Amino acid sequence: MSRRGFLGAASATAVSSGAGSLAELSLFGKLFSDETAADKPAGRIVDMHVHFDEKKPGFLDDLLKLADRMNLTACLLTPFAHRRVVADAAKQHPRQIVPFGFVELDAPDVVRQVEELHSLGFRGLGELEFVKKPYNDPSYFPVYELANRYGWLVLFHTGIVLRKNFDEPEDVASGRMRPIHLEELARRFPKITVVGAHCGNPEYEWAAEIARWNPNVFFDLSGSTLTKMRGRLAEFQRIFWWSDLNWSVKTPNNDPSAFVKLVFGSDSDLSGVESVANQYQALFDACDVPEQTRKMIMGGTLAKLLGLPG
Ligand SMILES: [Zn+2]
Repeated sequence: MSRRGFLGAASATAVSSGAGSLAELSLFGKLFSDETAADKPAGRIVDMHVHFDEKKPGFLDDLLKLADRMNLTACLLTPFAHRRVVADAAKQHPRQIVPFGFVELDAPDVVRQVEELHSLGFRGLGELEFVKKPYNDPSYFPVYELANRYGWLVLFHTGIVLRKNFDEPEDVASGRMRPIHLEELARRFPKITVVGAHCGNPEYEWAAEIARWNPNVFFDLSGSTLTKMRGRLAEFQRIFWWSDLNWSVKTPNNDPSAFVKLVFGSDSDLSGVESVANQYQALFDACDVPEQTRKMIMGGTLAKLLGLPG
């Protein structure tokens, strides 16, 4: 979609221009050159946020190639109409593809869709977005109850959202997709792992605070944030501030870094995934994120939550 095309181009530009680009690229080379072997799970990447692009011929083949090159597993956000082809691909390539169902919460038959996705082997939902009511509206609870019963991960768009239409009226409001709405869902449905896309952009502080108190809440930093903040990434240390304070909330691997509440998500064209990975590395460097935590963010946490094959 145009947003993703735009973001892919924007992140590619961010890497290919500017004084830091060579350093970033060599860092990237270093990160992957000696850690791409399948027998080195430490270098594994799990991308929470890959949209299935049915309009791109050969998309699944290209994804498999990228997965092999980057040692990457994609959570593939799949429109309901394309559920079967992705379910089959995931069965054939369980190390590369984890199927997620991209449903509309306002669709009259959404509960039936979710049940069918479960029977096809889907592992979660997302990206939920463009809702007609706030995410915590009780009319959506039957969907969350199913996700809770299945122990699923659910990826929600959070924060500002693109405008598709400039000339026609549209019923879209980012206020319905604020990260604060996820807090209630995480508490009511404790077996759902709630993942907020885009870290609530620009409500990072609310996103982080909700993640701090809720072991089943994580955020990805896809979208425009790492481009917008590229000159001031260290500011994230003020948002994720509680590292090493022995916070009494369970974290993956009991990691004491506040940054462990982040997971990698690209929300990019396949050609832009590497540059988003580079942006994450720049954030890690600017915020002195420990090596162990970097691995959890880039894939360790999601591999564990999803029980991915090694
Ligand atoms: Zn989104």
